[in-house]
Amino acid sequence: MACLLFDKIVFGPLKSRRLGKSLGVNLLPSNKKICTFNCVYCECGWTHPNASSLQAHYKFEDVISALEFRLHELSVNKEEIDSITFAGNGEPTLHPDFEAIVNKICVLRKKYFPEAKISVLSNASTLDKPSVVRALKRTDNPILKLDTCSEEIFELINKPLVNISISQIMKNIIASDISHVVIQTMFLRGSYNQISIDNTTEKEVALWLNMLLLIQPRSVMIYSLDRETPAHGLKKVSLEELELIAKKVRAIGIDAKAY
Ligand code: SF4
Repeated sequence: MACLLFDKIVFGPLKSRRLGKSLGVNLLPSNKKICTFNCVYCECGWTHPNASSLQAHYKFEDVISALEFRLHELSVNKEEIDSITFAGNGEPTLHPDFEAIVNKICVLRKKYFPEAKISVLSNASTLDKPSVVRALKRTDNPILKLDTCSEEIFELINKPLVNISISQIMKNIIASDISHVVIQTMFLRGSYNQISIDNTTEKEVALWLNMLLLIQPRSVMIYSLDRETPAHGLKKVSLEELELIAKKVRAIGIDAKAY
């Protein structure tokens, strides 16, 4: 598959269905994905087994100067942005200076684009670190992945490369008490390595709804496959079906949108 790896620290702005005009910040190396998960649907391709922790990384100063340069350029050109978004080649919270970078970006946002939101797309596997939780609380959109609430499906879809269970992740999300947390869930079905995968079954969705009641997120983003996936044999869930799931979320009093 064609892997979508970003070769720069700052990229875009790109038009995002969920975040509007989004200026991306990639804290991870440009030549490979670094992540604690190895999701079957990851747009960056498979995670190398040794790439679940960050060894080499962009320095704090380099991240900040690249971002300030681009924010200055956009502001001089009178180009608007809606979001400064931590995304890119893997899990951004693995960067050792994640909190310091978020703090500095809050200052730069105020200077150049006070209306823009700061968003983070995270798989929630590092919430055991107090510095990550503090940083996420400072952002406007801490968007955490929760594709399933059952261990079996977690192993099949997210394929963790570190010793963590989905029940621990769910406990960490609740304990982190991020009042404005947003949950994002990828729904899919199909098979991989001849094992069937489906997180849209009645049982799966019921478990997930119960967890949402405990987490009480500010909102839920529901989506399905959009691009080629590293695992073959996966199927996209239709927007109509995603809408039905979103309706169930709204029925328990939580805002939800299907994309
Ligand atoms: S958590 Fe995100 S970056 Fe990591 S493997 Fe999954 S989709 Fe890719």
